[in-house]
Amino acid sequence: MQTRRDHGKIAFLDIRDRSGIIQAVATGEKLGNLGTEDVVEVEGKVVERGEKNINDKIPTGKIELQVEKLTIISKATELPLPIDSDGHDISEETRLKYRYLDLRRPRMTKNLRIRSKVVNFIRNYLFNEDFVEIETPILTKTTPEGARDFIVPSRLQKGKFYALPQSPQQYKQLLMVSGFERYFQIARCFRDEDPRKDRAYGEFTQLDLEMSFVTQEDILELTEKMFTQLVSELFPEKHITKSPWPRLSHKEVIEKYGTDKPDLRVNKNDPNELAFSWTIDFPLFSEQSEEDFYHGSGSAKYAPSHHMFTSPHPDDLALLDTEPSKVRGLQHDLVLNGFEVGGGSIRIHQSEIQEKIFGLIGFSKEQKKQFSHMLTSFEYGVPPHGGIAPGIDRFLMALLGEPSVREVIAFPATSSGQIAVMDAPSKVDPKQLKELGISLK
Ligand code: ASP
Repeated sequence: MQTRRDHGKIAFLDIRDRSGIIQAVATGEKLGNLGTEDVVEVEGKVVERGEKNINDKIPTGKIELQVEKLTIISKATELPLPIDSDGHDISEETRLKYRYLDLRRPRMTKNLRIRSKVVNFIRNYLFNEDFVEIETPILTKTTPEGARDFIVPSRLQKGKFYALPQSPQQYKQLLMVSGFERYFQIARCFRDEDPRKDRAYGEFTQLDLEMSFVTQEDILELTEKMFTQLVSELFPEKHITKSPWPRLSHKEVIEKYGTDKPDLRVNKNDPNELAFSWTIDFPLFSEQSEEDFYHGSGSAKYAPSHHMFTSPHPDDLALLDTEPSKVRGLQHDLVLNGFEVGGGSIRIHQSEIQEKIFGLIGFSKEQKKQFSHMLTSFEYGVPPHGGIAPGIDRFLMALLGEPSVREVIAFPATSSGQIAVMDAPSKVDPKQLKELGISLK
């Protein structure tokens, strides 16, 4: 029961369910102590509203429900936050602590419904293109994508740890070795890096996909067609600035826009404008920085610009030995309205090139061993392959013009990494630690 307006003997109620709102009319005595947000069961007759009472603003504005019987199933006490506004002015702390109520807010309900439709569209599209949806492990080993790992202690092998995947990158490449040729997954990825407006803390969702026997052109084309059709079918009110999407070399975007994710909208105030573009021809390496400790020994000069499995441009192979900084990678970034929505690449499928890259990024013997399964798998026949992983949260944020990815995620962490509703992370029972062979300092 969303609102109750008492008018003398009768009262008007707005009754809400998943399909929307209907006005109900009842005499006062039937309502008892009925209050806002109570859960009710209502029986009655649906009748046309009188001419004067028609409300054009809601789909049920021409009818109302004459209440014959109303039962309060569950009472609601006063909510700790208003839910009838867009919510942008309420503190993040309160909104996330009571997220289950915050999600009653029409804007949030709408966003999550749109999200579900978008994912459903993507699934169907890819099934029609002969893709197979495959789940890969969450308890796994480091999959470096440039962030810190989350680690999980093993009980059965004390002193050892799983890492949560920063992306399914290695698994999807191994699935290409298995011969699936076209894989996708709506994949949860875990990265321990500081949150930003366009990046939730801890975890996020990607449409992760990989294909065998393809060129970079094939990947760009598939992605572009899919998103173009998605926009025209689900969001007919929106328009794409330029099709085919502009493809800009890394050098060109940096020179022209000073960023590798340019905002190419003609009118930045038009909420329905979507400017997609591709950034390609990235340098394969960037200068290694302090934060690249997870990549190499820390003493090497180079870090991968994308990740260490990205193939060098075939024309630049010789430069790997002479001038690595000049080597271009077969990397592609998908940009929407100034946000990097996803990246991908053609992968290395030759062990000798992969070894060379490991060397250039300063991998120790021990670090190389961590990835030996990749090199071993390549010994058994590996199709050339490549893929991309557009971020679902970020795509939706840009598409809907929301100020933060948190507006399109049901239960995001706060900016200090707290899962507010559940109050995670939390301390664990000493018994649990003992079982894991862990003692805290
Ligand atoms: N694994 C990459 C990422 O998470 C995407 C890809 O290269 O397909 O950015």
